[in-house]
Amino acid sequence: MKEIRLLFAAAEIFPFAKSGGLGDIAFALPKALRKKISTTAIMPLYGFIDRERYGIAPTGEHFTVTLDGSAHDIEFFHAQYDGMDIFFVYNDTLCDREYIYGPPGEGYGDNDLRFAIFGHSIAEAVERFDFNMLHLNDWHTALAAVIARDKGVKHPIVYTIHNLVYQGVFDARFMKRWGVGDTHFHIDDMEYYGYLNWMKGAIAHADIVTTVSPSYAIEIQLPEFGFGLDGFLRKHSDKLVGILNGIDYDIFDPMRDPSLDASFGPSSIRGKKRCKNAFLKEASLKEKEWPLISFIGRFSEQKGLDILIDSIGELLGNEINLAILGDGESRYIEALKEIEAENENFYLQIGYDESLSHRIYAASDFFLMPSIFEPCGLAQMIAMRYGAIPVVHAVGGLRDTVHPICRTRKICGEGFVFESMDSKSFLAAISEALKLYKKRSSLQKVRRFDMECDFSIEKCAKKYLDLYEGLR
Ligand code: ADP
Repeated sequence: MKEIRLLFAAAEIFPFAKSGGLGDIAFALPKALRKKISTTAIMPLYGFIDRERYGIAPTGEHFTVTLDGSAHDIEFFHAQYDGMDIFFVYNDTLCDREYIYGPPGEGYGDNDLRFAIFGHSIAEAVERFDFNMLHLNDWHTALAAVIARDKGVKHPIVYTIHNLVYQGVFDARFMKRWGVGDTHFHIDDMEYYGYLNWMKGAIAHADIVTTVSPSYAIEIQLPEFGFGLDGFLRKHSDKLVGILNGIDYDIFDPMRDPSLDASFGPSSIRGKKRCKNAFLKEASLKEKEWPLISFIGRFSEQKGLDILIDSIGELLGNEINLAILGDGESRYIEALKEIEAENENFYLQIGYDESLSHRIYAASDFFLMPSIFEPCGLAQMIAMRYGAIPVVHAVGGLRDTVHPICRTRKICGEGFVFESMDSKSFLAAISEALKLYKKRSSLQKVRRFDMECDFSIEKCAKKYLDLYEGLR
């Protein structure tokens, strides 16, 4: 086969659109890959993306897809960003929205149609722009695998599961409006207990299925974490690989982060104290010497919000400051707001704020991730880079990236790990962290060690390159 020409597709790519880790990785991975192979990313041109700021220009290429009798016009745009080639797809149904998927904690009712349009655009782009390898991510792009195969595309397809919970399961009646054939309504294909499952279709049609950590690759083949697809994944286990995600150290670097009040690194840690003081002031948290513990993430059951909220009362009774930044389900927001009203040592910010998140990571001594399940998790890697020691549930990518502190055998990274998913175990792990806070030199050692750990995207990209080469 000729030189690889990769098209990398995702529903969100930082900085144009980001709702979580997918946005980070869908920027960082193609950016790292393009240093070795020809790589172009593709995403929807949502209405909220500033075309002028990013130099996004029309390519003059467009096409129409007719789905269930309705014609949808699709236009390709292009930009170069940070050395990377990106195609943007514009169609009014897909793009003219305030949010990527829907308001926090919700999804738009026509997301199947929106991402079917995106799927057709991806498959069209492969042929029109002569790509010979396709990398798809999560359910939003899963239908592209099915459509591409329907169109006779024979090139290798890699499909990555970033989170098995969101599979894209829809009523079988909707199939007509996606423009895929009835033959896919089959137990070895998209059919799923009488419904249609996009992720299942991509697993069936991709040459390789990856997921974002080695532990998660094992877990998703078990009923406990398989969300109904464990059997199908076991059946396809010969093409399933776990590759740990990484982070872009050009963006997440406390030595040169424009969001921070001071720079710092493993060998010059003093700036961290200044970042902490500045944030405490910004957040009106008074006790400067107390440890700052933080949580940044989606307010969802997955992220362990139930045990977090159950534990907060007792946690705030300690000499600590707690900062939470996030958005999501209203039941969690309401519960957190009530707690905020009664506690002076608690800072809560509802919403999505990239710059604030960096300031919190930099200011924090400890970072909480009590996820019920966690495919990879980037937040704990970012936290470690910024010298915040993680407290995590031993699951998925958290298990692969955070290990109990051990003086003799150092494994990247180190933190506080609890096995049993209940408040008692979670609080016990935090109380160990608070003990470490009192031993300043041990604290600094762990902090430095975590900051020096290599969770770079380059390591991850190398594994994907080997995989693409294998497919070639
Ligand atoms: P997810 O399951 O949401 O993808 P990850 O840990 O893999 O979780 O990635 C989350 C990413 O989103 C991190 O970069 C984190 O800092 C960021 N993030 C999450 N919530 C917020 C928020 N409310 N404001 C700013 N950044 C956020």
